[in-house]
Amino acid sequence: MSKINVEEIFASNVFTLGVMQERLPKEVFKDVKKVMEQGGELSLADANVVAKAMKDWAVEKGATHYTHWFQPLTGITAEKHDAFVTVPDAFGKTLLEFSGKELIKGESDASSFPNGGIRSTCEARGYTAWDITSPAFLKEDSTGVLLCIPTAFCSYTGEALDKKTPLLRSMEAISAQSLRIIRLFGNTTATKVIPSVGAEQEYFLIDRDKYLKRKDLIFAGRTLFGVPAPKGQEMEDHYFGTIRDRVGAFMKELNVELWKLGVTAKTQHNEAAPAQHELAPIYETANIAVDHNQLIMETMKKVANRHNLTCLLHEKPFAGVNGSGKHDNWSLCTDTGINLLDPGKTPHENIQFLLIVACIMKAVDTHADLLRQSAADVGNDHRLGAGEAPPAIISMFLGEQLEDVVNQLVETGEAARSIRGEKLETGVSTLPGFEKDATDRNRTSPFAFTGNKFEFRMVGSSDSVAGPNTTLNAIVAEAFCEAADVLEAAEDFDMAVHDLIKEYMTKHQRIIFNGDGYSQKWVEEAARRGLPNIKTTVEAVETLLTEKSVKLFEKFGIFTKVELESRAEVLYETYVKTINIEARTMIDMASKQYIPAIIDYTKALADTVLAVQSAGVDAVVQKNLLVEVSDKLTKAKMALDVLVDVRTQSKAIKNHKERAFFFKEQVVPAMNELRGHIDSLERIVDAKVWPVPNYGELIFEV
Ligand code: ADP
Ligand code: MG
Repeated sequence: MSKINVEEIFASNVFTLGVMQERLPKEVFKDVKKVMEQGGELSLADANVVAKAMKDWAVEKGATHYTHWFQPLTGITAEKHDAFVTVPDAFGKTLLEFSGKELIKGESDASSFPNGGIRSTCEARGYTAWDITSPAFLKEDSTGVLLCIPTAFCSYTGEALDKKTPLLRSMEAISAQSLRIIRLFGNTTATKVIPSVGAEQEYFLIDRDKYLKRKDLIFAGRTLFGVPAPKGQEMEDHYFGTIRDRVGAFMKELNVELWKLGVTAKTQHNEAAPAQHELAPIYETANIAVDHNQLIMETMKKVANRHNLTCLLHEKPFAGVNGSGKHDNWSLCTDTGINLLDPGKTPHENIQFLLIVACIMKAVDTHADLLRQSAADVGNDHRLGAGEAPPAIISMFLGEQLEDVVNQLVETGEAARSIRGEKLETGVSTLPGFEKDATDRNRTSPFAFTGNKFEFRMVGSSDSVAGPNTTLNAIVAEAFCEAADVLEAAEDFDMAVHDLIKEYMTKHQRIIFNGDGYSQKWVEEAARRGLPNIKTTVEAVETLLTEKSVKLFEKFGIFTKVELESRAEVLYETYVKTINIEARTMIDMASKQYIPAIIDYTKALADTVLAVQSAGVDAVVQKNLLVEVSDKLTKAKMALDVLVDVRTQSKAIKNHKERAFFFKEQVVPAMNELRGHIDSLERIVDAKVWPVPNYGELIFEV
């Protein structure tokens, strides 16, 4: 087996700070570092020098093209490749060039990307702008080697048309407001507070030949029909199980490709469902983590193909087994290395930490609807609240230790003690004794405190983590801002902070829930507490446009009202388009694959009945089966006709929001009805005539 030298390959395709230090003149390097750390603009002269160094480095590594790599509202990344070639001289020789201007700014047709009406085709100009804080990197694939420059994407008039711009804005907001808080507690050295993100990525891997036989997987990324295999995940033998050879070879190559890109692929394991796996990188600065998560998803798909596998990132590829999510781990760290979410050993004495927790409680309670929306996407509607992922209700899990401190504060205004982790008793004398964590885990909570970070568990596996982190940063920035306003003006700081913590914790204690989030009891309890339960993506959209939301996002310059409106439009449109594709795929598969196959089967049964009867034998079983199949076939065809009909009706609705609700209320139920009939046929029809691979073949035979 060939040896992998991780130190050598790690970040070998990244234009890192180290590479810049080596290749840039001292002064220019200093300027670049300053802009990276403190913001501001790089001079064009400096940009020219950086561009040349970047190009030389890339060309030495075989690059022929560069691209401004950006993240439009499609949720994936976009790139347009430009070769470094220039007009040849009289002797036919071309010089490879890349200017500072080309590095900083690109132009793109904004109207061809989702923009929610901000850009019509006649006023289509859009710009991409270099995000100096996320390093440029090289992508190697069949097109050759490509220099990718992470960029933000805005319209001619400055509206954000992407996921990165608002994220960067929200990072500035949370930094400024966090600094106000820690200054109050005497921190004078930190100059920045950085939201840090570690996104755990779940995915499925299936055999590519089988994948290619299923149009639903090809067009919708999930199965639209299919009966669960005789075995599911009930034996709990896949989770953390031994990794099969074929999957292992994939993981090995995936890690190498990611390490080259500077992605710290760290943890890998089998997940709960058969054919389901997870990869987690080490956490890093939010915008880089978002970029890297995009690279992780893209690289997973690419590497899977090389192994004749297909990687499914959909939230619910298969009914009856767990779907996939993306746990978004989030914390706040100063540029001097202090994690503001670290409670220390005695959280009850850590006033700054308690204030921060109180503010986060306030933020999450006040904007539970927005947080819910940030994790909404069509695929995720199949998971949230379905007993495999958090419910659609936002609540916070603080753990025993912190919850106890909150209770003390709320009840008496003082917190006198923190529950300590006890010694773990295994009952075996040779096993090491160690102190347990002060808090157990709670897998059912959507927003859980896990020691020194919050884990937002609602996010869907295919979704960008930009949105959830933008929202998190924004809502917490607002709570910090309001607290700082009070505390900066207070005459007696100690008294004021004490009162504020008590006030916030008392007022927002209803958001704390440490019990079983999957239970029906919690749904009822949450309703009593007045917590929102927003069940679907479509219903979540309007949370963006409430007065509260517009005020929040405008206050911190994260979204203008116009930008929020455009995003809402895009969300409605995307919902409709996605379900429409699913519906059309179902119609196609039912009409051209399932129904013809079942008709053939009824013919075979009928022939058998006749043959058996003419041989003088009673053909009861064959006849009964024929009747049952024919009956189900009739129902399936009727359901198909209904689906065709509602889809046709939908075309008359022009308003995006109305269409989205029509799809949710009319088209989705018609799809479910059709699926039900075809699935019940799959249970009784001869497997040999079934036109597509079944669940057993898809998720057990990888
Ligand atoms: P789990 O046990 O929750 O599955 P994993 O090890 O799979 O944990 O993933 C945990 C993720 O949280 C990793 O990406 C890790 O880097 C990240 N993480 C750890 N500490 C922090 C922190 N302080 N801030 C943000 N993310 C963190
Ligand atoms: Mg994990």
